[in-house]
Amino acid sequence: MNSNEVISKHKEFLFPCVANYYEEPIVITRAKGTQVEDLDGNQYLDFFGGILTVSLEHCQEEVVRAVQDQMETLGHTSALYPTENQVDVAETLARISPGSLKKSFFTSSGTEADETAILLAKIHTGQSEIIALRHCYSGRSLLAINLTAHSNWRLQGSQVPGIKHSLSPYCYRCPMGLEYPSCGVRCAKDLEELIQTETNGSPAAFIAEPIQGVGGFITPPKEYFEIAVGIVRKYGGLFICDEVQTGFGRTGDKWFGIEHYGVEPDIMSMAKGIANGMPVGATIAKEEIANSFTGLSLATYGGNPVSMAATKATIGVMEREDIPGRAAHLGKILREHLETMKEKYSSIGDVRGMGLMQALEFVKDRDSREPDPAITNAFLEAAKKNKLLLGKGGRYGNTIRIAPPMLISESDLREGCRLIDQALSEIS
Ligand code: PMP
Repeated sequence: MNSNEVISKHKEFLFPCVANYYEEPIVITRAKGTQVEDLDGNQYLDFFGGILTVSLEHCQEEVVRAVQDQMETLGHTSALYPTENQVDVAETLARISPGSLKKSFFTSSGTEADETAILLAKIHTGQSEIIALRHCYSGRSLLAINLTAHSNWRLQGSQVPGIKHSLSPYCYRCPMGLEYPSCGVRCAKDLEELIQTETNGSPAAFIAEPIQGVGGFITPPKEYFEIAVGIVRKYGGLFICDEVQTGFGRTGDKWFGIEHYGVEPDIMSMAKGIANGMPVGATIAKEEIANSFTGLSLATYGGNPVSMAATKATIGVMEREDIPGRAAHLGKILREHLETMKEKYSSIGDVRGMGLMQALEFVKDRDSREPDPAITNAFLEAAKKNKLLLGKGGRYGNTIRIAPPMLISESDLREGCRLIDQALSEIS
């Protein structure tokens, strides 16, 4: 098949909601390291890693070998039998996760990881109401799209009761019209009134991403989680930290994004970068909380020996290569380049993020901060022409997400920054 045939069959045989990036989608056929190649032989530098999922690099040798070896030895058992790989990974997650998070449940996606976390919180507390954040994304199940606070992802509107959305700590577009730090982080304090007025006063949990990924890498101020989680706990709720995008070194220096905020989650969900592209979701909880989950619940593919082999190999490479340290070092270089570009191009209203998770928010002008989705799309296309793949995000379609595979070399990182600058100069 050529690219056109693939694209036309995609339209013919897939649900139209399976939408692709770019006016002319790229049919990727192979990849190695940070390079991906399309069916027409074009090579691209990948600065999005399949939505922050290719955490190490494409086709990382040890992960490939682990998957191949495992598939030849034992491909599937179902969750009915204990396996070495699964307990190995669970033990490793307990070691690298913050605080006293200890027991895990494995699934195949971030959606399921969040679903499991919410169900566990309800079972443990005996309460049912959940607080999520505006601009958050939790996945595509019925529960997850109702947690998700982007109207365009909330297909069919609100259908799951008992979910309340608190203000997003979105400083660039402060929902209270205030400026940090003189605001006193009022968005976090508002949780108290939300609990008192919108719930029965005893929420089961508060779920939040340390950096709102799909929301456009919205990065809360450093005090946010201590205040917000403090309020939720005062009313008996658990804190579920969604580390699907921020986990596994992505934010630099730490294994998990929440560690930058000095708050210990009660439950944490993980996926994407956990296995360098193999479909793995994991939910980890404090022992006494996990122990409440005694009823029947089974994920046929949860803890599959092959996906666990990939997870084990991925985390093994991450530990050996000090991925959190790398992401901090390389993230600083990336951030410096982006800040320089903000000085150069007035369409960039905000630069934000942590580590190798950085975003550019585009505006029509800096005074009004009016979102500019048109220039954002033009920039995405210009970057593609320059053979650089980037991500898009944000409720207003005006944020570019930059999150390269974390084994990227410094020279590739600098080259990507040069291409970003080039694309920006072409559209400005
Ligand atoms: N949580 C967050 C923070 C996510 O970014 C995503 C996916 N973008 C999910 C949950 C859902 O993950 P999945 O697509 O693997 O179901």
